[in-house]
Amino acid sequence: MARKNLHIIGLSGGKDSTATLLLALDRMPRGQIRPVFVDTGNEHAETYRYLDFLESHLDLPIARIKPDFAQQIAEKRRFIARDRRTGRDKHGVKLRWSNRRKREALAHLHPTGNPFLDLCLLKGMFPSNRSRFCTEYLKKDVFVSYVDDLVQSGQRVVVWQGIRRAESDKRKHARKIERVGSGFYYFRPLVDWTEADVFRFLDAKGIPPNPLYRSLGRVSCAPCIYSTKPDLRVLFASDPNLLPRLRDWEARVSACSKTGRAAFFAGKQLAGARLGEVHPLVFWDRHQIDAIQHWASKPTRFNPDDWDGFDGGGGKACSSEWGLCE
Ligand code: SF4
Repeated sequence: MARKNLHIIGLSGGKDSTATLLLALDRMPRGQIRPVFVDTGNEHAETYRYLDFLESHLDLPIARIKPDFAQQIAEKRRFIARDRRTGRDKHGVKLRWSNRRKREALAHLHPTGNPFLDLCLLKGMFPSNRSRFCTEYLKKDVFVSYVDDLVQSGQRVVVWQGIRRAESDKRKHARKIERVGSGFYYFRPLVDWTEADVFRFLDAKGIPPNPLYRSLGRVSCAPCIYSTKPDLRVLFASDPNLLPRLRDWEARVSACSKTGRAAFFAGKQLAGARLGEVHPLVFWDRHQIDAIQHWASKPTRFNPDDWDGFDGGGGKACSSEWGLCE
């Protein structure tokens, strides 16, 4: 008997992946459809609620998976404990972990069960515009390995990707159907849709988009390294636990950093406070989360120059061809 295709939809809780899931339900037997959500551990509460809503409204279970960094953390602990390197890096900084930093890191470098925090503890830093490791490690790798396990087990798989050619230059040549390997295909039903088409389709289906489109304009981590000043105002105002949580994360990640310093928004390089151009104490003072929260709460107009590297046009946003984030 011919093997049946399994239709996997990478679901982020955003409009495009939701529309893709609804299209799959229109066209395929529901028993062959599997929406998959990759949980970074730093999602907005609205997104978890929206997934619950979709699951119960559509009467379709959503597979929720998350990365696990326990093994890499154990390896990093061994590396730090045994580090006896000599010499300096290109900035003149000693390669070897000092004994004090080793003690601090080994006291704090343990898996917490939160993938976002665990990845930052492992790296000793938060992701940034210049070192954006979050999308790959927190979303892409775990989804790819989930699909690969199915393919390796002999399952025929079609991965539905909710990407649109109009989204970016990178996607303007996206093909609707692509054969990846034997019994493994990509299907991109939205390639020639516009953003307005997507919202119209959801409306016609009677499915409201994630409420985050009303408050933040997009669905992402909360916060995301690309969060803007208005985003941060909304996030801090709507979640009283956000500031203490990020304060705690910064303290733990700092302890696991070879420099003893880490800040969630260090990569933003607030105007006039670039590392190397101002004293490090000034830089870290301006970028630790309490200072960022204070800055975001100031009633001044948002100035794109305040966020170094922010293009204001939405070009620097988290997105994934797998439909894992938008
Ligand atoms: S939404 Fe932002 S913080 Fe989250 S994985 Fe994507 S780029 Fe990183």
